[in-house]
Amino acid sequence: MVDLGNQYQNIQEEIDSAVLNVIRSTAYINGPEVKKFQESLQDYLGVKHVIPCANGTDALQVSLMALGLQPGDEVVSVDFTFAATVEVIGLLNLVPVLVDVDEKTFNMDIEALKKAITPKTKAIIPVHLFGQVANMEEVLKIAKEHNLAVVEDTAQAIGADYTFADGTVKKAGTMGDLGTTSFFPSKNLGGYGDGGAVFTNDDELAHKLRGIVNHGMYRRYYHDEVGVNSRLDSIQAAILNIKLPLLDKYNAARAKAASYYSNAFKDCKKIETPFIAENSTHAFHQYTLKVTGVDRNALQAFLMGKEIPAMIYYPVPLHAQEAYKDERYNEDDFKVTNQLIDQVISLPMHTELDEEQLEFITSSVLEFVRK
Ligand SMILES: *Cc1c(COP(=O)(O)O)cnc(C)c1O
Repeated sequence: MVDLGNQYQNIQEEIDSAVLNVIRSTAYINGPEVKKFQESLQDYLGVKHVIPCANGTDALQVSLMALGLQPGDEVVSVDFTFAATVEVIGLLNLVPVLVDVDEKTFNMDIEALKKAITPKTKAIIPVHLFGQVANMEEVLKIAKEHNLAVVEDTAQAIGADYTFADGTVKKAGTMGDLGTTSFFPSKNLGGYGDGGAVFTNDDELAHKLRGIVNHGMYRRYYHDEVGVNSRLDSIQAAILNIKLPLLDKYNAARAKAASYYSNAFKDCKKIETPFIAENSTHAFHQYTLKVTGVDRNALQAFLMGKEIPAMIYYPVPLHAQEAYKDERYNEDDFKVTNQLIDQVISLPMHTELDEEQLEFITSSVLEFVRK
């Protein structure tokens, strides 16, 4: 699905020397590379504060902690996402309220969001799934109306731009009160291990987050609240400092591969190619097709047989997971997710796909679908 080896080879000298420099400097924890990365990412995103942390799941957790939510408070998020988004809600004894997604964008359904809001709702976590930015114009409007906090899960969409109706352009993750991301190796901006960050323009939340990720310490050895230990490793920061200036180039390579795929499939009625909203760029973390009138699992097996990796993101909706089952849920409320789990298939997507590979993958998909 991803080709991290070839990507590394293209930047090997710089990476090797940056990693060695950290080792030789002995500044392993919160070294200058971490500060440099924090500042570069702030510049890149056009956001006031970046708080680096250990991974994208922690980024979500510390965000909810910083908002000061109380046990029993409801947090609305989506049924169709990676479990981490919802896991942290439960972990903090908050109540996850899952809603259905839009059939075109696979992102939070705005009508479903409106219906899910109760007097106990305190926050919304939209997910920019597969790199497509959620409908932030509406999410922010609803949040403002009901005085709710917004945490954007940007683990799959770093670098994407979103244009508001008034023409303002913002980077994914910088529109809500908080934005979170992951530097897991296969993400669009991936390190060589775990990493994550929270973004915010709010000085108070930023201050709170810096304490929370550091054992609730705002002064050394004074613990004002219960925090966690969540840091971005200096070695990972050094790697990310080399990769961040390449992010736009990497995302462009993904978009180019996506456009090759979509062009090859455009005349096939059984295949629906990814929707790209007019007011946002798509970061193409995943290239996900929707197939109808095709045995999706057999297609996956057929591609695997040709050594083409193809994955199902995600095979089980969160509302049906053992950990997140809830008697409040009604299957009718998850019509789209319940369909998507049988229709979606993600093709290889990374920065190193060449035409020969793309041609082989697309002709193989079409060979099966036309059978
Ligand atoms: C990857 C991912 C996360 C979690 O990131 P980790 O760094 O693996 O903890 C959270 N949300 C979404 C949507 C993701 O894709």
